Amino acid sequence: MPKLTGKIALVTGGNSGIGFAIAKQFIQEGASVIITARRKSQLDQAVKELGEKATAFVADVSKPEELSSLYEMIQDKFGRLDIIAANAGTGEFQPLGEITEESYYRTFDTNVKGVIFTVQKALPILSSSASIIIIGSTVSVSGTPAFSVYSASKSAVRNLVRSWVIDLKGRGIRINVLSPGVTETPGLLGLAESGKEEELLSSFASQIPLGRVAKPKEMATVAVFLASDDASYINGVELFVDGGMVQV
Ligand code: NDP
Repeated sequence: MPKLTGKIALVTGGNSGIGFAIAKQFIQEGASVIITARRKSQLDQAVKELGEKATAFVADVSKPEELSSLYEMIQDKFGRLDIIAANAGTGEFQPLGEITEESYYRTFDTNVKGVIFTVQKALPILSSSASIIIIGSTVSVSGTPAFSVYSASKSAVRNLVRSWVIDLKGRGIRINVLSPGVTETPGLLGLAESGKEEELLSSFASQIPLGRVAKPKEMATVAVFLASDDASYINGVELFVDGGMVQV
């Protein structure tokens, strides 16, 4: 039995990696999915692969006016929204001593400001039992070498959710954080020096109790769970999907 039949879902950053896998899984479970990102050609390619239940919309989450246009389109075309996967995110390796103002703004504007306005601007069109899933990271609870700004941005969104469950009290809307561990995506591989991608993956794998990095689909199936009625009493949690990496 499909778990998301008839639901209308938004996946930000849905043209790549974890977001694309979530969009694909949502569609397999019966949802119609709007995917957003900045790069139009990658969005068009993603929609081609996802099929007719996918709609693409170019929007930069760090620009609230572009989010307003996105929600106008969703209101006009679909009339409401049942699920949000706030997945768009970015990060750069910079050790303390080399952090630049530009990289701070790039990271926080996407990962924190982007999440705030993705959620806030959706409120008028969210259905009464909507599920919001914020894609966090294991680094919300751990230190990371040369990745402090990104890690702090993920701690920030985890804490936003603690407060938002209170602000949303009485609306029936659930909001949770899905925190992936190391997952093989274009975004992750882009952090490696050219030609050193396998080295990066095996060095991560050696730190993970399950002994391997995750596939994007392993995040997507958990996103389906959080979006569905199977998780009807789960609210405000941070669900780690990390092969045990930060549980030991
Ligand atoms: P990818 O780089 O593969 O995908 C990131 C997506 O976000 C792309 O679709 C990108 O599209 C979009 N995006 C980036 N910036 C913006 C923006 N300003 N506005 C709109 N869309 C944007 O990364 P992953 O799939 O690896 O990451 C997805 C999420 O998972 C992120 O939040 C990341 O922090 C988190 N995560 C990933 C882990 C991993 O190991 N891969 C581990 C823990 C968390 P475009 O460039 O076209 O805008």
